[in-house]
Amino acid sequence: MTEQVKVNLLGLSRNQMEAFFTAMGEKAFRATQVMKWIYQEGVDDFDAMTNLSKALRDGLKEVAEITLPEVVQDHPSSDGTRKWLLKVDEVNHIEMVFIPEAERNTLCVSSQVGCTLACSFCSTARQGFNRNLTTAEIVGQIALAARIIGLPENKGDRIITNVVLMGMGEPLLNLENVAPALELMQDDLAFGISKRRVTVSTAGVVPGIDELRELSDVSLAVSLHAPNDELRDQLVPINKKYPIRELMAACKRYVAGKPHRRVTFEYVMLAGVNDSDEHARQLVKLLRAVPSKVNLIPFNPFPNAPYECSSNNRINAFREIIMQAGIITVTRKTRGEDIAAACGQLAGKVKDRTRRSERFEVKAVTKDNNDKEKIAS
Ligand code: SAH
Repeated sequence: MTEQVKVNLLGLSRNQMEAFFTAMGEKAFRATQVMKWIYQEGVDDFDAMTNLSKALRDGLKEVAEITLPEVVQDHPSSDGTRKWLLKVDEVNHIEMVFIPEAERNTLCVSSQVGCTLACSFCSTARQGFNRNLTTAEIVGQIALAARIIGLPENKGDRIITNVVLMGMGEPLLNLENVAPALELMQDDLAFGISKRRVTVSTAGVVPGIDELRELSDVSLAVSLHAPNDELRDQLVPINKKYPIRELMAACKRYVAGKPHRRVTFEYVMLAGVNDSDEHARQLVKLLRAVPSKVNLIPFNPFPNAPYECSSNNRINAFREIIMQAGIITVTRKTRGEDIAAACGQLAGKVKDRTRRSERFEVKAVTKDNNDKEKIAS
């Protein structure tokens, strides 16, 4: 007899949880009780849920479970950032990063095992792709971090004030699982984070932006990285499918009718590639159409990366041009560099199904050989 697959309750939004209990022949308020146990008490053993009858607890054990991802490695950085390697199944690992700051604590979570997009400056891209994360695996990252970081004396306080879907993967290519996770992030019974403090970051999946707008109101960040199609086609290849004009139109729709909402545009600073004054001026023109702010991200290197980070002077000059145009521009502080936890450095362990990682390995070896030849000659 095969064992029945149990429902991981971490994957159910409040409505889904209520439907689950009603289907069991229970009252819908059981959902509230169980969510409080899971998210506020950090309890995942049904027997410890003392306000449920013994019969219900036994019934739950038969059909449900509360399973969090498993920590495989824990890397604290000298700047307080902390990165975990998490096991999500026998062959796949993902990464999650906690970034404490004076006025907020941000958790950066993954949405896929690897990524199907092939941005040339991102190390996750080189690992290829295995699968989407489930809602339970996305929510499980937050529940896990809250339990690890939440000191007993802080019980009841919300440790994680901001969540960004900026880890591994493209969240808008996994909206089916991301959408209920976004609901739970904001639900008072779960993490209670305000919509402005939940950020979905996309490389520019235009239909996904419109879908997100229909079902949620979270903050939107767009990985722009280039102010014209010719360059963006090279850096963010999904641009060939959804060019800048369409992307900007979708961003405009996303914030339309929402006063004070802005789209954050992320722009990685690549020396000699996208960082000239002219690029900055083109960017300004582009952003006139959308209420925006800009996050300049110093390029974070990884092995065999074909780019270098722009100099501080260049980043400052670039920033100045955008600021002069009245657009709020922040240079993102690089955090967790010593543990490879910075933007674009996340690389879990992906059992690649796309063979993209193989191609990169071949390239890396070839480059290595060339270097050796150069040294020899
Ligand atoms: N796929 C989504 C979510 C990933 S967010 C997206 O593209 O937005 C990760 C952010 O870090 C993106 O803005 C990405 O473009 C940026 N990034 C990737 N590689 C980087 C690197 N090596 N240095 C700095 N930023 C990088």
